Amino acid sequence: MKLKVKEQLFGLTPYQPGKPIEDVKRELGLEKIIKLASNENPFGCSEKAKEAIIKSVDEMALYPDGYSKTLREKVAGLTGVREDQIIFGNGSDELIAILCRALLSPSTNTVMAKPTFSQYSHNAVIEGAEIREIENINGEHDLDGMLTAIDENTAIVWVCSPNNPTGTYIGEEKLLRFIKNVPDDVLIVVDEAYKEYVVADDYPNTLSFLNEYPNVIVLRTFSKAYGLASLRVGYGVANPDLIKAIEPARGPFNTSRLAQAAVSAAIDDQQFILACTKANREGLEQYYEFCKEMGLSYFPSQGNFILIDFKRSGQEVFEYLLKKGFIVRSGTALGYPTCVRITVGSKQQNEEIIDVLKAMLAESK
Ligand SMILES: *Cc1c(COP(=O)(O)O)cnc(C)c1O
Repeated sequence: MKLKVKEQLFGLTPYQPGKPIEDVKRELGLEKIIKLASNENPFGCSEKAKEAIIKSVDEMALYPDGYSKTLREKVAGLTGVREDQIIFGNGSDELIAILCRALLSPSTNTVMAKPTFSQYSHNAVIEGAEIREIENINGEHDLDGMLTAIDENTAIVWVCSPNNPTGTYIGEEKLLRFIKNVPDDVLIVVDEAYKEYVVADDYPNTLSFLNEYPNVIVLRTFSKAYGLASLRVGYGVANPDLIKAIEPARGPFNTSRLAQAAVSAAIDDQQFILACTKANREGLEQYYEFCKEMGLSYFPSQGNFILIDFKRSGQEVFEYLLKKGFIVRSGTALGYPTCVRITVGSKQQNEEIIDVLKAMLAESK
């Protein structure tokens, strides 16, 4: 390669999307496939979002509002923050990329948990920053270890709560103590992609820290509980000065017109979110019961997924399930090689996959 492509890109692999479901069905001769791999909402999205898309279809020739005024008002209302505290991204994935682009360079380092969401290190590598990964303890962030890893060249520290792939969370006291101890010239990113699903009493209202700690940004998304993953909308909330500083790294029309309309409408349908998160808790109970019955260990989850340790190759469990028509995430690529991460589906979907898992365990006895 003669082109001057950044050297660090050669060490990365692009995100491996799953094969199209139709292809897998044909290859394996299956009638149906249930995908419980990407933490998507099994109940789809609010009807209000669909109606909003249909209404805005005639405006497809027009660029979206680059400021996302309507959506901005809705999110400000939903979260109780000021409009100038919000930045929108093409999914929170893009916000992660924007933050890395804005803060990281080869002379900086960035601190994160391991395993955690893969996009933090992926984007940091592209910017040439040094990655400092601190091994989880019992599936939870080792916050003290992360503090120790911070030095004068640290630009960003990542906190994922609930953490993907473990589903564990960080309580208010612990998070606040951590934030207090991070130097004020280090950006703390708190990724709350699964916030709507959390039921823990001591899960913090991180937005209430923003006034006192202008070096914190909270990331949230409409891809998970809102069921709008295909539309790609996430947002960051922080101190207005921080938002102003990173805004130039955002593309002018990075969220689409249809997406802005759909998300604005979906925010008005909190009934839908309540119904989905309630069903999710009940679904998690189905998996907990299964694990207890089978003597399997798992991490109690505050998200819409569960990481179960099958004490055998996660890849093998993945392949067994695939043949039976279920797509899950093998723990191999997630840093937990004997585990499988399963997205909580509908009651029926959970029952079906649990039956298949029970058969699998019985076969190998
Ligand atoms: C799914 C996920 C995201 C990305 O969500 P998008 O808004 O769809 O880009 C970010 N962080 C974590 C921890 C996730 O699991």
